[in-house]
Amino acid sequence: MYLVISFAMAQSPQLEAVPGEYIIKLKSQRSVHTLQSKVVGGLSLKGQVSSTGVYQVKLSNPQDFQSLSQDPDVEYIEPNYILSKPVQPEGAQSEPEALSESAMSASFSQNYAPVQVVQSWDQYSAFNINNRPVVAVIDTGVNLTHAALVQSDAIWKNPSELNGISGIDDDQNGYVDDINGWNFSANSNSPQDDEGHGSHVAGIVIGAGFDIFASSRPQSKIQVMALKFLDANGSGRTSDAIRAIYYAVDNGAQVINCSWGGGSYSRSLLDALAYAYSREVLVVTAAGNNSSNNDVSPMYPASYDVPANLAVAASTDSDNLASFSNYGANLVQVAAPGLYIYSTYFGNTYTLMSGTSMAAPFVAGIAALAWRESPQLTGYQIKELIISSVNVRSSLSGKVSTNGRVNANSLVSFAKGSTAVLASQPEYKVTSDRGLASIEEAAGGAGGCGLVRALNGSSGSGPMIPLGAFLVLLVPVAVWYTMKSRLPQSRRKFERFQVKSDVRINMGGREVVGQVQTLSMGGLSFSADDLIEKGSLVTMKISNPTGEGEIEVQGRIVWSEEKKSYGVQFQDASQSVSQKILSWTKNLAKGSA
Ligand code: CA
Repeated sequence: MYLVISFAMAQSPQLEAVPGEYIIKLKSQRSVHTLQSKVVGGLSLKGQVSSTGVYQVKLSNPQDFQSLSQDPDVEYIEPNYILSKPVQPEGAQSEPEALSESAMSASFSQNYAPVQVVQSWDQYSAFNINNRPVVAVIDTGVNLTHAALVQSDAIWKNPSELNGISGIDDDQNGYVDDINGWNFSANSNSPQDDEGHGSHVAGIVIGAGFDIFASSRPQSKIQVMALKFLDANGSGRTSDAIRAIYYAVDNGAQVINCSWGGGSYSRSLLDALAYAYSREVLVVTAAGNNSSNNDVSPMYPASYDVPANLAVAASTDSDNLASFSNYGANLVQVAAPGLYIYSTYFGNTYTLMSGTSMAAPFVAGIAALAWRESPQLTGYQIKELIISSVNVRSSLSGKVSTNGRVNANSLVSFAKGSTAVLASQPEYKVTSDRGLASIEEAAGGAGGCGLVRALNGSSGSGPMIPLGAFLVLLVPVAVWYTMKSRLPQSRRKFERFQVKSDVRINMGGREVVGQVQTLSMGGLSFSADDLIEKGSLVTMKISNPTGEGEIEVQGRIVWSEEKKSYGVQFQDASQSVSQKILSWTKNLAKGSA
C-alpha cells in the first residue's frame, strides 16, 4: 500500500485539489449558514466565489462531501481543483534567458510570420483613447513596471479607484483599491508577476498591436487587465480562477486570456465561462502542451464547449502543429504561433518561451483589435470572424476544427467590412451532463439555436409545424430519424416534396458545393458527408420549386453531443423565411394530406 502511494506521489508531485477544500453551489435562496447544521465534521467558509450562490468551503470530514452532494439544498459540490500553467514543452529552457531591451531592439522586430500581423497594422482605424479594448490576462500576474507596458500605457487601471484615497472600495466591486486589477492568489491589490509567465503573455497580447521590441513605443491600442491567481510556482485554485473571470467580466474586459488549465472537470469553472458568454465576452484558452488530443483527454477550460470559448493550439513558422501542442478536431478551434516566441519578462527584459500559452494571447490580442474596429460585435461574433478568416493548411487538417491558423490581416478586414456573422449569439445553457450542452438543451425559442428541439417540441398543430420555426439540415441523418418517429403524420404529408438547392459551404476560403436533395418534415437532408466540418459557415440557397423566388439563409455547422451527429444551426432562419417556405409547400401539403 505504501509503495503504491509513494509511487503515485512521485508521478504527480502536484496535488490535484486543495486538501479539504470544496466549491459548493447552493440552490437559490439557500443560506450558506444552513450548511453548518448538515455536516458531521467542521465546515469553514473560505469565501464567496461568485454572487450566484457559489462558495469556497473547507470540510474537516471528507464524508461530508458525499452527504452534501446528496443534499437537496445543494446544486453541486466539487473539489477545489488546482490549475496550473501548462507544462513547459520539452526542449524549452528551464531557466529562460533574460535579454536586455537594447539587445532585443537591435536584433528583433515583431514578425509572427506567416500570420500577417505587421500587414494588419496598416489597416487599423486611427488611435482613439476612448476605444481601447481590455484583455484580461488571468495568469501569474503582469510585470507592471516593464517599459514596454508602461511607456505604451497598456496596463488597465480601474478609474473608480484612481482618486488617491486608500482603504476604500470606491466602486464597491468587493475589492479595496483594485487600481491595477487584483491578486486573487494572495488576496491583495498587487497583481505584480512573481513567476514570469503572465508577463510574457501580456506582452504578446499588446504585441498584436505594435512592435514591443522597438525603442520608441506608441500608445497601446489594447489594455491589459492584470489578474493574478497562479502563484510563484505557476499553480492556483479553481475558486480563484473563477473569481478572476467574474472580475474581468464585471469590470469591463472584452476578452479573457486563459493560458492555463487542468484535467479535472469543474462545473463551477464552466459556469464562469457561461457567465462570460452571457455578457458577450470572448474567452481564449490554451489547448495545453501534452501533445495530446483534447477530444479524448480534455484540458479545462480549453475543452469546455461553451460558445464563448476559443481554444488555441500552437503552430510553427511553417504552419505545422508544434510537437508539444494539444489538438482536437472538435474541441480546439484554431492554431496560432507558439514556438520560440519572444516577449516581455522580468525587469525590462525579454525572453523566449514556447507553448500554447503563447499562442492563445496572440489570438486574444488580434480579437481585441478586431473588436476595436467593430465595437458592436459580441465576443462570439468576433470568434466567428476569427474562425472564418483562418488560413486553412493541410498540415493542420484534423488537428483543429477549422484546419487553419489565424490570420491577423484577414481578421481585421473581416471586422472592418461587412462579413456576415450571426445577428446575435446563440442561446446557451449549461447542462448537468458534464457541461456539454447539446443543441436541444440550448434551445431558446425564436432566435435561439435549439432547432432540433424546436422542431420536435412543436408537435400538435398540423402540417405547418415542421417549418414553423427553423430549418434543419443534417448530415448524417440521425435527427432526421428522430423526427420521423415523433411526427409520423406530418412526415406523410411532406415526404414526397422535392427541392433542388445548392448548398455552399465555406471552410476558411475553400468553397464546396453540394445539393440538397429533399425537403420534408421541415428538415433538409443531403448526402455530402464530406462537406461537413464543425464551425463552418453555410450559405444555403433554397429555390421555390416553381422557379419563382429564392431565399438565402446562413447557418453554422454544429455538433450535437446528444445525437452524435452534425447539424446546421440556422440562427437567422427568420419567420419570413419560414413563412416563404411554408407558402411554397402549402399546396403540396394539402394535396397529399
Ligand atoms: Ca474596488
